[in-house]
Amino acid sequence: MTKLAIISPCYNEEDVLEQSAARLTTLFDTLIAQGSLHADSKIYFVNDGSTDRTWEIIERLHKDNHYVCGINLTHNVGHQNAIMAGMMTVRRNFDAVITIDADLQDDLGAIPQMLAAHEAGSDVVYGVKVSRKADPVLKRMTAMAFYKLQRRMGVNSVYNHADYRLLSHKALAILSEFKERNLYLRGLIPLMGLPSATVDDAISERTAGTSKYTFSKMMNLALDGITSFSVKPIFAIFYLGIFFLFISLLIAIYVVHALIVHTAAPGWASLMLSTWLVGGFILMSIGIVGIYIGKIYNEVKQRPLYSVESVLE
Ligand code: UDP
Ligand code: MG
Repeated sequence: MTKLAIISPCYNEEDVLEQSAARLTTLFDTLIAQGSLHADSKIYFVNDGSTDRTWEIIERLHKDNHYVCGINLTHNVGHQNAIMAGMMTVRRNFDAVITIDADLQDDLGAIPQMLAAHEAGSDVVYGVKVSRKADPVLKRMTAMAFYKLQRRMGVNSVYNHADYRLLSHKALAILSEFKERNLYLRGLIPLMGLPSATVDDAISERTAGTSKYTFSKMMNLALDGITSFSVKPIFAIFYLGIFFLFISLLIAIYVVHALIVHTAAPGWASLMLSTWLVGGFILMSIGIVGIYIGKIYNEVKQRPLYSVESVLE
């Protein structure tokens, strides 16, 4: 029987928090009565520096509801860091955690399936959105384009999976070895290479409050999703430089031809050539410098080189 902690990040969620706590409580009651969840399982709300009554509500829920616990962060650190704070704070006391947004847009019906997959041996269980109908069209389209771009950049992430997932005690121990500061959990977790499973997540619309993911927060997440895992953009600059040098070769032929047939105005030939040649060299040089920076970047992240599955002695 799994002793579970739900980790739910909350940033200004006063409108939805009570509803969410009530729904999770009902679910816990049912699962515990069925014998599929350990009675000491808890629901942790992580207050990510909210400026509204969120923490007050968490304190009150904690007093009245024996499942509810709270973690109060001193200031707003963003969704990814708030989840990490919750997971790392509780990881030693539970068999597994499930992270879920405080608005409970994700399908709670997937939780029993996640628990079953965990008991069957999966250390990671991803909730995968089966339909994004609840998302606005623009968000849906940009998300799709982003997943494709990520794939082309060589980032290993699970298609249509956000941060609704179960992680076992062991997965959390391995995750704690990753010391990097530009956190993008969706890329990091597949990197651990643990046995995993997926369950369907039929997302619904927010029942109260508004989205806390501003455009700039979303852009930052998307940029982290690529730049924390891939140095391909740097290589792209390098190859663009080479491409420009190749073009300068074609231009050279064109310029020489123009000089021979006397269609070139004075000064045109040298200008024309140097634009492409110098441009190509500059781009290539930036690319080379970038490749070294990319290597430094990979080194400073100090990611673990391996994670041991088991040792026989
Ligand atoms: N969130 C957070 N810190 C932030 C922004 C958001 O902890 O700086 C939380 C938020 O309270 C919610 C989750 O992250 O529980 C996802 O945010 P939201 O539901 O607003 O995003 P959307 O579903 O619209 O993408
Ligand atoms: Mg949401």
